Amino acid sequence: MKRILAMLLVVAVLVCVLAGCGSSGDSTDSISAVQSTDKYRSFYQIWIGSFCDSNGDETGDIPGIISKLDYLNDGDPNSGDDLGVDGIWLSPMMPSTTYHKYNVRDYFDIDEEFGTLDDFDELLCECHERGIKLIIDLVINHSGSDHEFFVKACEELREGNEDGYARYYNVSKESSERYNREVLGSDYYYEGAFSYEMPDWNLSFEGTRDYFEEVAKFWLDRGVDGFRLDAVKYFDDKETDGVEFLRWFYEMAQGYNPDVYMVGEDWDSTGSIYDFYESGIDSLFNFKFATNTGEFATGGRSGLVTDFAKSLKKYDDNIKTHNPNAIDANFLTNHDMPRLANALDEYEYKFAASLYMLAPGNTFTYYGEEIGIEAPNTTNDASYRTAMIWDNDDLPDIYVNGVAQVEECWLGGVKQQLEQEDSLLNLYRRLIRLRLQNPEIARGDITEVVEFDNKHVGMVIDYDGARVMVVHNGDKEPAELTLDPATYSSMTLRGWAVAGIEGDDENNRASVTLSGDGTLTMPARSSAVIKLDA
Ligand code: CA
Ligand code: CA
Repeated sequence: MKRILAMLLVVAVLVCVLAGCGSSGDSTDSISAVQSTDKYRSFYQIWIGSFCDSNGDETGDIPGIISKLDYLNDGDPNSGDDLGVDGIWLSPMMPSTTYHKYNVRDYFDIDEEFGTLDDFDELLCECHERGIKLIIDLVINHSGSDHEFFVKACEELREGNEDGYARYYNVSKESSERYNREVLGSDYYYEGAFSYEMPDWNLSFEGTRDYFEEVAKFWLDRGVDGFRLDAVKYFDDKETDGVEFLRWFYEMAQGYNPDVYMVGEDWDSTGSIYDFYESGIDSLFNFKFATNTGEFATGGRSGLVTDFAKSLKKYDDNIKTHNPNAIDANFLTNHDMPRLANALDEYEYKFAASLYMLAPGNTFTYYGEEIGIEAPNTTNDASYRTAMIWDNDDLPDIYVNGVAQVEECWLGGVKQQLEQEDSLLNLYRRLIRLRLQNPEIARGDITEVVEFDNKHVGMVIDYDGARVMVVHNGDKEPAELTLDPATYSSMTLRGWAVAGIEGDDENNRASVTLSGDGTLTMPARSSAVIKLDA
């Protein structure tokens, strides 16, 4: 063991000398991570009911999240064994009859299952002390059917009055594909794109906009940093142009907080996402690259990184054509789809995570993804939202709509993975740190794809006069690549991440090296960040 350590040290020192960094040790560790002060963040999506239960009622809650904040970020990007995320997206938390809470009864409170407004204020304060931005899930396409306005609308419609509260919703005397839900005991139908319990708001009505201005102001005044907007694809209705509505909402919110950050959910591959970027919104989730069949997972599995990089550049260029300030919102999975562990093995998973984390834009890591939580089955939503596994030897008593987590996490719980140097969790920590050490990655544009061959690629990323190259070796063999010193006059290795291959500890614990003549050696399935002269 001592000999291996000594050899590793020699390698590390050599790397530093050759790569020209100032201090000894792993160059990844010697470069300081800089806390973000802008909208470019590594977000973490928390499904509140599943994360941590503080009071033993078998449901996660806001005090539970507060008790785990040091795991997410201890406030110092250069110390501790925290994950390092600097943004949180809280899944819905407002009073609602369902466990998922996407049918909101009251937009101005916290569901009692999760805590109180005081608990929320404390969470917000603790997040801000750690440099974490907190955004909340805002469901403004539809309300719950028990929302006061909808209850009143139905009462009035039963009396034939469509000029009162019914104006807040989309109603018609004719049933159709759009007006697909009956107001029982009346002559009317309403639009409920998702279900009977979720009547769609009429977003053209001035009263509805006034109402959502109050809602936005209420949460922004409390200090929330922005919103994850649910179901923006469904903002379009008979009279509403969804893009126009989104522009109104975004600009209105900027009036209350000029730095407000918003990311919209439009589950589409490209077309309508580009349209919604025209609204000026910061981000829309990149569904083309997400899910178990999207381009991150596919690249992680196949290692065909050149196709991946070309496609990423094309997407990034496109969204910035529609909004020059667009921030791509990358993710692997979220609460609406099977877990990545249901489709990839450990090493494919790790490589997919590297492709995802080292792409321009923000990242949204779904809780538990950093330890490889598996969905107990792939047929129902609740199983994609099961309890966080903090310790494989002490599983939580949390039931999500009756569904418990798998009996143990195949790669270990948080406790076990923090103790394993090459665990998935430690890879996530390393990748998030690389993003903080190299701010160009998130903020820049891919200006060139350097094709070595189909499994070896470099993405040149330019930002504000600075330039880095992210290099991926997607092959299951180590690689030696040549970066021409004539083309790249100054090259400094800033860090790397090894996803690795099964059963080869030597490969998986090896370092990336860059010599003065531009020879880059990379372990099998690994990624490197190199600083270049701009
Ligand atoms: Ca609880
Ligand atoms: Ca709608």
